[in-house]
Amino acid sequence: MTRKTADKPHILFLFSDTGGGHRSAAKAIIEALEIYHPGKVTTEMLDFFVEYAPPPFDMAVTTYAPMAQVPDLWELGYKLSNGKWRGKLVQDVLWPYIRKSAERLVTEHPCDLFLSVHPIINTPILRALGEDHAPYLVVITDMVSTHAFWYNDKATLTMTPTEVARLRGIGIGMDPKRIVLVGQPIADKFRQPSPPKKDLREMLGWPQDQTVALIVGGGEGMGPVEETVKAIGQSGMDLALAVIAGHNETLKTNLENADLETPTFIYGFVENMPDLMNAADILLTKAGPGTISEGFIAGLPLILYSKMPGQEDGNVDYVLNEGAGVWAPTVEDVLTTLRYWLANPDVLKETAAISKSLGRPDASYDIAQKIIDTVYRA
Ligand code: UDP
Repeated sequence: MTRKTADKPHILFLFSDTGGGHRSAAKAIIEALEIYHPGKVTTEMLDFFVEYAPPPFDMAVTTYAPMAQVPDLWELGYKLSNGKWRGKLVQDVLWPYIRKSAERLVTEHPCDLFLSVHPIINTPILRALGEDHAPYLVVITDMVSTHAFWYNDKATLTMTPTEVARLRGIGIGMDPKRIVLVGQPIADKFRQPSPPKKDLREMLGWPQDQTVALIVGGGEGMGPVEETVKAIGQSGMDLALAVIAGHNETLKTNLENADLETPTFIYGFVENMPDLMNAADILLTKAGPGTISEGFIAGLPLILYSKMPGQEDGNVDYVLNEGAGVWAPTVEDVLTTLRYWLANPDVLKETAAISKSLGRPDASYDIAQKIIDTVYRA
């Protein structure tokens, strides 16, 4: 195949900021390319919704956060388009509206390899590309309840975060030779060895002799974080809390002004997540794939307190089926779980060991290797 770009192979990352860890996944893979294959390729990230989607689809990014607050609506849209045939029907109906945009995207962004980390874009781009095109790789970022849009048998290679996601693809007709398990792509900092917990706690100013529960509401500080922190903070439990509000400024301010008995450390958006996770004993989070996978690597028992219906249902099932944590959708459930774990350190330890065993710190490294192999072979 002739190279589309003059100098080095150019990789186009197709993503969008509609939650689900798409941006973090793309950034993690680019980072692995830069670290482990410096100077071998050039990369570009394209938010196709923002830059190419015709109205009203161009609103997807701005409406994602509000829609995510209306779970029923989100779930309905998700379910209506899921399943092999329903998915195809929706794609066929939409094609006349999005065809021009998809064709323009392909023309305006010549590349030697496409890397998609988003379900919605795959069929439109593969249709726009026609028969003879640069390799098209898909990296799935939903752990288990993978939407049918992720799977397109015209993709050169599809990479999955879990074995369940791989089997689902095969079940709906993907060629088993072109769908492989790699794990959830996460930042390289989670692949690096961690300092001892004691040193981390000292650096963070956390207590050495108390169980520390870390609370993360995804990048946007979503879910009932405030109620949960207040309930734990006033429960009299022998526990310290570290709360990451992410980009949610209101949450951060409200927590800073809250009257809590429990020692509580409050952060905005943090860059040192591995340190915080490796210093903690328990992770409370919404069921985002990125945070869950990072929690596995740090060997943290998980309390999942909320989820995006549809998209994140399977993440919850996965954690429960494996025994790496619990589903605690009410504040009362969270308190009960914490009390149980504090009273039964053996159970906590066992859950932590299971969590650790599910960690796949090499996923981004492996994906980067597959990109290089593919693009230099093509
Ligand atoms: N994250 C971070 N700093 C923060 C909050 C979150 O780096 O202050 C990262 C977190 O480590 C994870 C990602 O943001 O990699 C969140 O992804 P997830 O899939 O859990 O949820 P999303 O917000 O994408 O729905």
